[in-house]
Amino acid sequence: MAIGLKEENVVTSQIPAYSAPEDGNESSSQRDPNPRWNPSHVGAKEELANLYTAGKRRQEIVCVVLCMTLTLMVACQLVYHLRLDNWMVPFIAAVGGILTADFFSGLVHWAADSWGSIEIPVVGQAFIRPFREHHIDPTAITRHDVIETNGDNCMMSLIGLIPQTFILFSSSTETIQQHYAWHCFFLLLAIFVTLTNQFHKWSHTYFGLPAWVQFLQRYHLILPCRHHRVHHVAPHEMYFCITTGWLNYPMEAVGFWTGLESIITHLTGYSPRTDDLNWAKKTK
Ligand SMILES: [Zn+2]
Ligand SMILES: [Zn+2]
Repeated sequence: MAIGLKEENVVTSQIPAYSAPEDGNESSSQRDPNPRWNPSHVGAKEELANLYTAGKRRQEIVCVVLCMTLTLMVACQLVYHLRLDNWMVPFIAAVGGILTADFFSGLVHWAADSWGSIEIPVVGQAFIRPFREHHIDPTAITRHDVIETNGDNCMMSLIGLIPQTFILFSSSTETIQQHYAWHCFFLLLAIFVTLTNQFHKWSHTYFGLPAWVQFLQRYHLILPCRHHRVHHVAPHEMYFCITTGWLNYPMEAVGFWTGLESIITHLTGYSPRTDDLNWAKKTK
């Protein structure tokens, strides 16, 4: 479904009936008596939560520590080589990095929500499982600690941070200056990819957020709660971008995801979100 700003209000009005309760402002009379997605899916919830293994936890800890270390090393190198007559470069790179991170958040989220299943060896249980759990129990993410929230995103960021650290610490000053804008772009991309699920977690946290986080959400500098609730209206087919959500407006306006799904369905015969729907129906 391609929607614009006006249509967002229509979808928002469906939140009480077609998405799991989160903010405590919805009366039970507003809710669908037989919802496809709600917290009564105790069996599915527990089954998915129990698949979070000790091995996965160890992998996440390594990724978080390594990601923080390399981000700091790259940032220090770039601050050291910063020229004040060149301040526009980091600014433009920041915006480019944020938009690119927002796009990738949408792409990965859409792919994991819409295709594949948790039966796929390794990838299914480790990386698709959290997406299935999130639709059945959107508030579970608010109970995840910093490691579980950010582990997978740190791993994604490491794909860029490892070669960038190597290049920055083995290049001459002249070479670094030549490619300074690209280094800024990739650092900010890595930072925003790393923080995406933290922003996502905050968008599900309706109580007790620090004032500065509420400020960033209010001015839509990071993903706002109400904006992300649109994605949680069943069957979860829109608003996949979860870093800032800025790209959700143009992408829904042009029908980007539905267009991509039509092509894939035409080529493969598979329909999107069948595994997601199977988990949603699983109540025991
Ligand atoms: Zn989703
Ligand atoms: Zn969510």
